[in-house]
Amino acid sequence: MKENKVLIRNGLVYDPINNIEGEIKDILIESGKIIDKFSNNKNINEIDARGKTVIPAAIDIHTHVASQQVNWARLIGVNNEKFKEIWQGLTLEKIARDYISMGYTFILEANVFPSLAKQTIFNFQQIPVLDKAMLLNISNFWPLELEYQRNKTTDMAVFLSDLLEKTYGFGFKVYNPFENEMWDLKELREDLSAQGRLYNFSALDVYENVVKCIETMGLPHSAHVHIEGYESGIGKKNLLTVLEKVNSLNISPSQKTKSTIKRDQILHIAHANTYAPDGKNEELIQFLNNNPNYSINLSFVGFNQINPLITSDRRSINQLITLNSLDPTNKLITSAVEFEGDSFVTLRQISKKNFNDCIIWANAIDLALNVSNKSQICFSLNYPNYGNITNIPEILTWLTSEKARNDFMEGMNEKFLKASIVQNMKNSLNFSEAISLTRISPAKSLGIADVKGNLGRGADADINIIDLNVQEVEISKDYNKLRNAFSNIAYVIKSGEVVKKQNEVDLDMQGSIFWAQGKVESSEKSLIMSKKKEFYQKYSSFFYDSLQVSVDNNLLRKIE
Ligand SMILES: [Zn+2]
Repeated sequence: MKENKVLIRNGLVYDPINNIEGEIKDILIESGKIIDKFSNNKNINEIDARGKTVIPAAIDIHTHVASQQVNWARLIGVNNEKFKEIWQGLTLEKIARDYISMGYTFILEANVFPSLAKQTIFNFQQIPVLDKAMLLNISNFWPLELEYQRNKTTDMAVFLSDLLEKTYGFGFKVYNPFENEMWDLKELREDLSAQGRLYNFSALDVYENVVKCIETMGLPHSAHVHIEGYESGIGKKNLLTVLEKVNSLNISPSQKTKSTIKRDQILHIAHANTYAPDGKNEELIQFLNNNPNYSINLSFVGFNQINPLITSDRRSINQLITLNSLDPTNKLITSAVEFEGDSFVTLRQISKKNFNDCIIWANAIDLALNVSNKSQICFSLNYPNYGNITNIPEILTWLTSEKARNDFMEGMNEKFLKASIVQNMKNSLNFSEAISLTRISPAKSLGIADVKGNLGRGADADINIIDLNVQEVEISKDYNKLRNAFSNIAYVIKSGEVVKKQNEVDLDMQGSIFWAQGKVESSEKSLIMSKKKEFYQKYSSFFYDSLQVSVDNNLLRKIE
């Protein structure tokens, strides 16, 4: 299917970044990029898109596909018949095939400990077609102890830039900072401003320093955070505390890459629908409406019969254990990575009969419909935690059709149905807004909107052609038509090559690994790095230089 020049003719084009909202237009592709004019008229392959809708390919800003934890999910699932049937081994090939079938060309692995980056890059090379990137988890990272204590932002930036260069990471994730220390000393902290026992800084200091450091580095993506206590009562209080703290710093986004379209946020909140088990999202909605410098992703719930749970949230695991709500036959794997943090994996059932699961489902819809600025919201599944990739077409109908939501709510938990605000929600997303959530907002939040989520000149030719004329179908009523069209996307094009046509998926092509290191200036670099290397020599079982990942240069794509 290798085509150097492709002309997509007469499609109904939606390209919100370039203010195109349903125009009949041709799209020209040459050498993997979108162009205005072909270099010559020889060997142009035409795709007739008359009556079809042409949109940018989708982007997942938060997924778990290539880490130690995913291997454990595979391991635990090996003797579980339901897991085998639904997740089919959770193999890299299945993951790639499903993402491509659903129109995706870029995914962000959201939780990698720095010393395990090698495995992630190894797995990335086995995931065909898709472009990939990863976030390094530095929440419990002891080598940054001094910087967190003394607010040494430049030193931290020098070190983290070097770390990204060694591991080919794209950015940073913060996840329950230094909570493991509290846990090891047999107490769960109630307050994020509390200092540790072995160190004299708090979780809030970590959030502050990471945000400041990332803006100093000017990375494409902002700090990406998971606040401790999600799915439990304290999650919302913790979330609002962190938002207030970061807001009080008065920091502006400072992306220092060549991209002409920059991100707007200084903080990106993971699975923002999981922090309010009371189903009340007003405070978060109001905060986002008042503060455009924040973006969120929503983990839509697919109600699969069994879901892997991959998390580093000790508080949530603690709650599941104390409530005895983990099925003991499913096993729980827990492991610590020396001075970097720890994680947990189990299998669990997310069910329409379970009140809490229904609330998480409803929260995602509430936030998607009621945060005013849709470019602050990104569609995700937190795969495989809350949904399967193949659930995406159905989820799109809940967002775009009140009728689809009401039909789906049949059989849900009764207590939930009595109280849920979703039943009275009359508003829905229009097609263009649904495209924004799945394509434009993630591209912008990741700081790569000049090349992804964009059908303008110079962008990567990553495109979906949907067999549906969205101007002739009322998607709020005829929601099955939207679902069917997204269940079998007519064409998925990656870097100008057709990787899916009707039922046929072609996995021959390799994708790139996106990475970044920011722009950091310091005359002290060699001194700072020699101190860090000394730290590793003293306290770690491995040398800092052994973090260096080796990978074929042709697979790497640096965002500068
Ligand atoms: Zn996650």
